[in-house]
Amino acid sequence: MSEVRTVPTLPTAHPVSNPDTEEFWKAAAEGRFLGRRCGDCGSAIWYPRPICPFCHSTNTRWEEFSGRGVVYSYSIVRRAGGEWKNVVPYVLAYVELEEGPRVMTNIVDCAVEEVGIGDAVEVVFDDTGNGAALPRFRPANRPH
Ligand SMILES: [Zn+2]
Repeated sequence: MSEVRTVPTLPTAHPVSNPDTEEFWKAAAEGRFLGRRCGDCGSAIWYPRPICPFCHSTNTRWEEFSGRGVVYSYSIVRRAGGEWKNVVPYVLAYVELEEGPRVMTNIVDCAVEEVGIGDAVEVVFDDTGNGAALPRFRPANRPH
């Protein structure tokens, strides 16, 4: 279980839930990071969807992922509009999960200059206020 924060670190939109992702958002609200696993080719699947993108099998199921990964690539956003205007600079990144897939996300809880490719990160959830929570990642292996 990971931390779920009621005061988000960054602007947090209400996710649009649909039958394919409802389970994901419910688990996220409890601090659990779900992905899917293909029962035929064994691939980890992100974003969650019922059909395996690798072998097109429908034999997929939910699996709780570790919530750990590494920074695969990132960029520092220094200018933004709307509700993001006041939180620059922030980090937009792809995190490669331990299970393999890459997730587009924000790196939080550190100065933007501290982020580097290959850094170990862990998931943290920002409550969206409507029964869901948005996963973000922060540096792992350090006190918070
Ligand atoms: Zn498959």
